[in-house]
This record gives sequence, C-alpha cells and structure tokens, in this order.
Amino acid sequence: MMRRQALESNTVVLDIGHYYAPGKGGQGARTPDASQGAQLEECEFWYRYAHVVKQVVEQAGYHCVVCNRGDIPTDPTLAEYARQTGVVQIKTPIPTAVYRSNHHSNRMAVGILSADYALDCKPGAVVFLHLNSESDSWLISNKGAFYCNPVGIQLATTMADTMNRRIFNRGLPNHGVPCGVVVRTDGHKGGGDWLNTCNDSFVPAVITEVAFLSNPEHAHYLSKSANASRFAHAIGEGIVRFMQQRKR
Ligand SMILES: [Zn+2]
Repeated sequence: MMRRQALESNTVVLDIGHYYAPGKGGQGARTPDASQGAQLEECEFWYRYAHVVKQVVEQAGYHCVVCNRGDIPTDPTLAEYARQTGVVQIKTPIPTAVYRSNHHSNRMAVGILSADYALDCKPGAVVFLHLNSESDSWLISNKGAFYCNPVGIQLATTMADTMNRRIFNRGLPNHGVPCGVVVRTDGHKGGGDWLNTCNDSFVPAVITEVAFLSNPEHAHYLSKSANASRFAHAIGEGIVRFMQQRKR
C-alpha cells in the first residue's frame, strides 16, 4: 500500500541541504576561496536557486514542497529568497545532533528530521539539494553523481541523463566524463540513512552530489547566476521527466 501511495503521489519534496547558522552562514561545503568568482556554500546556494527547481516542477503540474532544517537565514537576501520560495523551516533543536527517524526507528542520522518531514508529505520523490566537495583546496575532479536509494534508481538515472544532455560537458566542464549514479544501501555512508528511511517507505530519493565546489572549473561555472539557474533548471527537468515516466 505504501508503494502505491508513492507511485500515485504528485508531490515532490526538495530539501535544502545542511543548515544556516545564525550570523555565520551555511554550514555545508564551501569553495576554498573567491578566485573562481563568487565564493559559494552549498546551503546558501540552494536557498538562492531552489525556487528555480520548484518552478520547473510546479509548471509541469506537480505539487512541490521546499524544506530546510534549522531557522530562516539571518542574511536578509537569503531570508527573502526563503520567503519567496516558501521554504518550510523544520524545527531541529540541535542541528548537528543525530536523530532517530519517526517513520523507521532503525534509521538514524544528522539531518534525518528532513527526511521525516519529507515522508510526512507523502511524496512521489524526494530530492536532497547539495553540492559536493572533495578537498579544502582546489582540485579538478569529475566524479559527480546522483546518490540514490534502491527504489530511486530510475529517478537518479533520469536526472543524470538530463544533466548530461543539458549541463555536463555542455557548459559545465567535465573533461568528457558523464554524470554518474551511485546507489546507497549502507545506512552509515554518504547520507545513506536519509535515503534508506525513504526506501523503507518505497519513496525514490536522491542526493544531488553532482558538481564539486572544490573543482575550480565547476565553481567558476556555478558562480555565474545564469549558469546556476541553468543547473537548477536541469535538476527540475530531471525530476519532472521521472515523474512523467514512472511506471504506475
Ligand atoms: Zn552537502
């Protein structure tokens, strides 16, 4: 029954990764310095661009919820983006603490309250919006991928295909290497428990670890807002193609 619920749902949940520490900024990965353009941090990046993904999903006729654990950013520009995007701020008493899932009590992780909230929405797909980083200093790496749960393989594959048609090696330099798909079944690796608590509810879930903030070529591309919007648009298009092609 849970499987049918996910297949028939027209709701997509987008979770902005990490959280914003008051007065300090986003607590995700950052570019090493500003030499490639604007300095970027992944949580702040997605506060700015989640609305692009949301708009693509909504224009295709789906319901889209955007959430983030922690409070609304203290930065006024990001706070305005949050308001305009309609970000649901998920109460997390200690943002760095490990919590147990209310949906599947064997699943525990930092940030799992986001996955719980997503499942409360009875979604057809959940996408955790992140940017990757391999190093604290600049390093050209081309191993970007969508991490997914086993029931999310079709979602991740469709999103990767869309990235390859629109962005990878077509604007975003990646030395010919295509965007990958990595299936996570180990609850303790790479956000596995967010993915797996969704898997336990038969909900396709993906973490976008596609572009590297530690890669100067990727950072240079994403620091231009027109490119960042294109990138976000391709994420949305991939989600929509999946929702339309799902086998019911
Ligand atoms: Zn991240």
